[in-house]
Amino acid sequence: MSEAERAMPELPEVESVRRGLVRARLREPVREIWRSEHQLRTGANWLRSKENLGCLLRATPGPVRRRGKYLLWDMSGEDEEALVLLIHLGMSGRCGVARPEQPIVAHTHLILDFEDGRQLRFVDPRRFGGVRAGPREAIYQSDPVASLGPEPLSRSFDGAVLEAALGRSKRALRDALLDQRAVAGIGNIYAVEACFEAKLNPLRPAAGLSSQAWLKLADALQLVLRRGVENGGTTLKDFRNVVGEVGRNQDDLRVYGRAGQPCPRCSRKLRDFVSQGRSGVYCTRCQPAPRK
Ligand SMILES: [Zn+2]
Repeated sequence: MSEAERAMPELPEVESVRRGLVRARLREPVREIWRSEHQLRTGANWLRSKENLGCLLRATPGPVRRRGKYLLWDMSGEDEEALVLLIHLGMSGRCGVARPEQPIVAHTHLILDFEDGRQLRFVDPRRFGGVRAGPREAIYQSDPVASLGPEPLSRSFDGAVLEAALGRSKRALRDALLDQRAVAGIGNIYAVEACFEAKLNPLRPAAGLSSQAWLKLADALQLVLRRGVENGGTTLKDFRNVVGEVGRNQDDLRVYGRAGQPCPRCSRKLRDFVSQGRSGVYCTRCQPAPRK
């Protein structure tokens, strides 16, 4: 599998989907639920509970929230119970709002049919994505949501927050940034881009960075994530928003996917690396390894 194929929706892509769902203004109760027979996301980083989608029948949709790479859609149950639909896009998951007459594409796994005739469709060819429903409290207080680290685009996020989360990690900086329990929502694309913006070597240990460097990295993360959100996400292969459009941020990536090309800052050839099985890109001149 190439790196582009492994790239999964990160914070900006999930945020684009969230905003699309908000714009769709789905307000009418769920009148029917269809689920394919295929198993979706499983494993250690996922809820152990059953999918429990049946509880959404006749529930009324409310605000759509996001935490890290997870969509959390508030629903008010028939008896006004506070419910939530949790969606993880995995690698190739898409959420679309459709009319019933639109053909159902292959790999559709969930359809919520609303009273106004529109449908939410979850499509995922590779099935690393997943869906869960249940009482809001229970979902928020269970892993993976409960153990997520701070939101990098929240107002309180800064160098000190990042240092508290990662300052003792002996892992390579790029790898440490991918830990959702340390910082929520960061994946390989935005981790690689942020290291470049902050002029930090992605392979150096996270531990040992100065407070000044953590501050630069926090600013860089916010810069690349905000740019990603403004561009409607990065589409390398699968990502689409709720109306099926690709994102535009791939055109604004400065180093990710550009190994061998000149550094946009100093023109030296960008170098690729592999760490923990994931590749990345950096500039050996702008992002030098720390002196021993
Ligand atoms: Zn450079």
